[in-house]
Amino acid sequence: MVTADKPETKYSEYAPGLNTRKSWEFYQRATKVIPGGASTHGRCWSYYGVPYPLNFVRGKGSRIWDADGNEYIDFAMGMGPDILGHGHPELMKAVKEQLDKGLTMYVGTDELEIKVAEKILKMCPHLDMIRFSNSGTEAVLHAMRFARAYTGKDKIVKFEGHYHGWSDYTMLTSLGVPPLGPPYAPYKMPSTWGIPEDTMRTMIVLPWNDLEILEKTIRRRANEIAAVISEPIMMNNGCIPPKDGYLKGVQELCAENDIVFILDEVISGFRLAPGGAAQYYHLKPDLITYAKALGAGFPVSAIGGKKEIMKDVLPGKIFHAGTYDANPVVMAAALASLNVLSANDYAAYKHLNKTAEMLKKGYDDAIERAKIQAIFQSVGAAGGQLYFTELKEVTNYRDFFKIDTSKFPRYQQQLMKERIYLHPLQSEHEFISVVHTEEDIKEHIAASTKVLSAMA
Ligand code: PMP
Repeated sequence: MVTADKPETKYSEYAPGLNTRKSWEFYQRATKVIPGGASTHGRCWSYYGVPYPLNFVRGKGSRIWDADGNEYIDFAMGMGPDILGHGHPELMKAVKEQLDKGLTMYVGTDELEIKVAEKILKMCPHLDMIRFSNSGTEAVLHAMRFARAYTGKDKIVKFEGHYHGWSDYTMLTSLGVPPLGPPYAPYKMPSTWGIPEDTMRTMIVLPWNDLEILEKTIRRRANEIAAVISEPIMMNNGCIPPKDGYLKGVQELCAENDIVFILDEVISGFRLAPGGAAQYYHLKPDLITYAKALGAGFPVSAIGGKKEIMKDVLPGKIFHAGTYDANPVVMAAALASLNVLSANDYAAYKHLNKTAEMLKKGYDDAIERAKIQAIFQSVGAAGGQLYFTELKEVTNYRDFFKIDTSKFPRYQQQLMKERIYLHPLQSEHEFISVVHTEEDIKEHIAASTKVLSAMA
């Protein structure tokens, strides 16, 4: 939630005694030339109750160092992409080898792109074909076009609170914009200035985790609806899991009504399981979007799906293009990422799941020991988040507005003093990587127990 009108001009410590002066100095310089001091709103922290963004200079494994030399164990992990941690040797080697070839960009194709596509289809047997693009937003835009082209219909259902990137279509009723209107028929609220009304008219916003309302809407409007797009887990408000059978129900309703089911796996893809949330929840969506963990920190995204839709992504039919699509450096990174994740019969996922479970259990214990009203929600290695709330569970966007979001930035800043680094926004989440050790988790939990006890 936005809390400040203008950036802080006086130096302030994050936590008593924690020196981050250089970050503050960089921030003063940055705000003179970059609106908000950073090139994505996700890092304009002074507007969200945090003093200023930290400036980082180095990373190795699960650790990062800021400009003032403070070392942290990183649980923000680039907002998801850093599934291999920082500077993973195999990732670095693959990228350096590609750079040494002198081929960072050219007009033509190469084997790398085919290898990455083949590898993805092996890890995700629920897909038939795949195309690459550069960001999650782009992948979602393409998927929506593919669905509209395939069905010949216009409208897309998106859910209250879900984030699918910055496009005009999907910036509706999300990112802290208060949910308004009846819970069964939320108002369409733009999450930014500048969204054309005509674009909004092509979207239908419904509450998530409620199959009955979706069914009623589809029954009335099936002949208008091209697609239903959903995050498998509502990760853009912390971590809100789907109700049992909900996603399967969405899939069935779509299949019965000639509607394309788009699963947005930008966060969960290659993180929750080799085949992402589709594998985890036993789904076969018509189209799936991927990004973050796929490139392990390099900008790549992908749209995968059923052959009957993807086969028409061709010149003269459904247009999909981009100068940087399947850029060779990025493809080298993606292949390295997938190779590390799939090595030794997907051993990486056993480790991810084990450490994710440790984190969940550790948090539950820490909350109990601290005697504080809070809950930690997570789904495997997809990510997790702490909520300061009396609620036993946060199940949808409206619940998210009942929690005390003011405490989270305080918690985050106190943890920095203990050398644990989280994303400062309540709506974001904690991530682990394949290089986080059990010791890292123990250190995190010990720090959290201390901070939560002091806050109780
Ligand atoms: N979809 C989901 C589910 C996301 O979480 C995000 C970004 N957090 C996006 C799409 C947009 O991805 P990008 O920031 O790469 O455009």
